[in-house]
Amino acid sequence: MLKAKLKHYEDLSEKSIQSKGEVNNLPFIYAITPTFTRPVQKAELVRLTLAFLHVKNFHWIVVEDSTEKTDLVGNFLQDCGLPFTHLHVKTNEQFQLKSTDPNWKQPRGVDQRNAGIEWLLKAHREEKLKPGVVYFADDDNTYSLQLFREAHKKSIRLASWSCWRLRFERPIVSSSGKVTGWYTVWDPSRPFAMDMAGFAINLSLLTSHPEARFDIRSRRGYVESSLLTSLGVTLSDLEPKADNCSKVYVWHTRTEKPNWKQEVKLIAAGRPSDPRIEV
Ligand code: UDP
Ligand code: MN
Repeated sequence: MLKAKLKHYEDLSEKSIQSKGEVNNLPFIYAITPTFTRPVQKAELVRLTLAFLHVKNFHWIVVEDSTEKTDLVGNFLQDCGLPFTHLHVKTNEQFQLKSTDPNWKQPRGVDQRNAGIEWLLKAHREEKLKPGVVYFADDDNTYSLQLFREAHKKSIRLASWSCWRLRFERPIVSSSGKVTGWYTVWDPSRPFAMDMAGFAINLSLLTSHPEARFDIRSRRGYVESSLLTSLGVTLSDLEPKADNCSKVYVWHTRTEKPNWKQEVKLIAAGRPSDPRIEV
């Protein structure tokens, strides 16, 4: 039943790429968001929605890291008011983070972003897409509206972003407006030493390099570089946005994991909080 309902909404939603809220001459923004089940998931999706709803010509591609689409995400998308595509792919077991692993051990969201890319390539072949930019919008960031104003300028590059090891990280831009390197402490020798949320690519770049993907075997911190290298771009292709990358428009906020120790006690006592209430 849910599947049929979702299919209905997805069809509607794909049609809405053509019509709903379209503003001429503004490129579309195709935002790909990997997401996975956890206590804060819905709150993360709500925060993203509250920003995305303000963005014209926006299409949200949400890719669950799961063997099936979940009711929580399906129902959420149906009601969120945004044109969306709902996909799912479970990360291969070999690359799944174990609960005892530090969270940097494996790159996360890689298969999901690649599934989003594949959906875009297929929709492009079927001539369903309008020109636009592709942006990788993880669900644990906070996005400013200025970021999308910049993305609507059809650029390859976007803004700088903040990070918890530094006040911010950003591309270094020369006086002639070219990216020459990276303001980052950790491994500035990476080909593209920037976070997923720190750039956007033109859809045409993706469709002209249909083999380009994120590489799940990338070394820590090299996932972004793996896609950009496979797209054949170099530093000189980057167009600095946000006042030569001097403004921070996206934050890696990471919602705190709730401590459910009281719930654990209730579960142990056989009296868990009503599981029919979705959080
Ligand atoms: N993610 C996922 N499966 C997981 C862990 C994370 O799909 O097992 C998603 C997550 O929701 C986020 C993206 O992948 O949108 C990046 O994950 P995370 O923020 O944990 O990685 P980091 O920012 O530390 O690289
Ligand atoms: Mn993150």
